[in-house]
Amino acid sequence: MPIKVLPETLAAQIAAGEVVERPASVVKELLENALDAGATAIDIDIRDGGRRLVRVSDDGQGIPEAEVAIAFHRHSTSKLTSAADLDAIRTLGFRGEALAAIASVAHVILITRTSDEVAGTRLKVEGGRIVSREQVGAPQGTAVGVENLFYNVPARLKFLRTSDTEKRHISALVTRYAMAYPTVRFRLVQDGRVVFRSAGGGDLREVLAQVHGVDTLRHMLEVSGGDSELCVFGFVSAPSLSRANRNHITLFVNGRWVQDQGLAYAVIQAYHTMLMTGRYPVAVLMIEVPAHDVDVNVHPTKAEIRFRDKEAVFRLVQRSVRRTLVDSTPVKPIDREHAANRGTWATPAPQGGEPAPACLSLLSRLQAQLDLPGLRAGVSSADADQGSSLAGALLPALRVVGQVGASYVVAEGPSELVIIDQHAAHERILYEEFMAQRHTGVQTQSLLEPEPVELTPDRATLLEENLPALRNLGFAVEHFGGSTFMVRGVPAVLGTISPRLALEAVVDDMETGKQPLGDALEERIISRVCKTAAVKAGQVLTGDEMAAMIRRLERCETPHTCPHGRPTMVSLSASQMARQFGRD
Ligand code: ADP
Ligand code: MG
Repeated sequence: MPIKVLPETLAAQIAAGEVVERPASVVKELLENALDAGATAIDIDIRDGGRRLVRVSDDGQGIPEAEVAIAFHRHSTSKLTSAADLDAIRTLGFRGEALAAIASVAHVILITRTSDEVAGTRLKVEGGRIVSREQVGAPQGTAVGVENLFYNVPARLKFLRTSDTEKRHISALVTRYAMAYPTVRFRLVQDGRVVFRSAGGGDLREVLAQVHGVDTLRHMLEVSGGDSELCVFGFVSAPSLSRANRNHITLFVNGRWVQDQGLAYAVIQAYHTMLMTGRYPVAVLMIEVPAHDVDVNVHPTKAEIRFRDKEAVFRLVQRSVRRTLVDSTPVKPIDREHAANRGTWATPAPQGGEPAPACLSLLSRLQAQLDLPGLRAGVSSADADQGSSLAGALLPALRVVGQVGASYVVAEGPSELVIIDQHAAHERILYEEFMAQRHTGVQTQSLLEPEPVELTPDRATLLEENLPALRNLGFAVEHFGGSTFMVRGVPAVLGTISPRLALEAVVDDMETGKQPLGDALEERIISRVCKTAAVKAGQVLTGDEMAAMIRRLERCETPHTCPHGRPTMVSLSASQMARQFGRD
């Protein structure tokens, strides 16, 4: 076939394919236009999952009559004038493609009026051609109705999912934008039914409650970090709430919803050892980056972005979320009502009543009491909520009451009964002590008598290759000849573990580790060795051993879960107990 230039309409349809993939893409583009126009209220009306109708109406600035037709031309926009503007984009749109793309593959009716016009304009566009134009009475703002999407693109129509799938995509999209713009009132109607509305009151918490439900909100913790240039704000789930996939991590950069694997991973990493494997947090985070430090012109759908300093953004997100988690609730936030009237336990409440911090962990509450003995009665709950300033201090020991089933340590806190899983707790202790030492060099405990350990030839080769890594981990191991190794020292943190067992466990991990010597391998070794070295369930402990364990646990950064994410302790508050006994 000879080469020829495609007809304009066909070219437009091909280009439209990049922007408009499905009904939800139409909703996204129209929403972005409404938001760019400064709307304070946006109505979204959907029929048949968007195949029959997508209509987005806003109360924004409107399009001046003289510009209405141009808006439908390809590459026509009011948001850019020169290439220099591309360097610092502050609007959601800028490519000038959406209206043209949508109009080339659907029937579009646009009604718009600016504040200084007396009459509105109604424009009808079909397959990219203007078919009618008239003056109409209209409120200020813009309404774009899109009917019969892909009526002229059978290839696309064929691939459209069921109307239920499309409905879900549209709901997910609208609720996301509602979270990013809490000051804007959103209303989503699907097939005549209001399925979502936000009040536009400006409080993200309120929108979160609407989107995720009040129950979920109770498990969400507020994140905020960074400076005036680069900052992050939003909510993440406490470790007590998790989901089976990462779809519940929602990220916005400068008000734009983005799908960025790297940033999502930063959030997940912040939960390191706090969630069981295969579980993911819920998060809604707004990241603000100076406009010239981010390139949004990567893809026609604008869902991908590039940062000038990706590392800095990653670090900020990871650290801010981590700090929130570490400073906050251990397992379950204490609900205000019960915290407020919680009874006295071992010691009578101080004069004036103790403040009732809503979301402080058991441990940070204990910290507060140790750290601020003089201020204790005067601490306002606002102060107390800033557990972060108290983190890192020594904690008062929980009083050991005894051991149950040779597996659990029962202890008494200032206002609760705490049951600790001795194995999980010891794992956590060993893990953190080991990790802390890793950066300063792990201490080696020399053995009085070196122990020879013989391995199978392939395991011996593997170990020989990795001996330097073992040294960093606090092992003193020499190749003795053949497949035999001489263990002269083990990491001091492991205490009295059998050297052979420890070495075998390490080699096991090297065998499964894909990247020997990598950080990941080290961590796996560590968590595995901890598992072998930690006291087991079924081991009877003396009172001193239990007290020592609890003291070490209190020094941990995240004492409430073991390195595999399981809880190390559960607690029963005095007020819960009082309720159980009918004293409340
Ligand atoms: P872009 O948003 O990239 O500029 P679009 O094709 O989406 O491109 O829109 C073209 C232009 O039409 C916009 O630049 C804007 O001036 C105008 N426009 C579109 N939708 C609206 C709206 N809801 N309110 C006001 N102006 C709008
Ligand atoms: Mg646009």
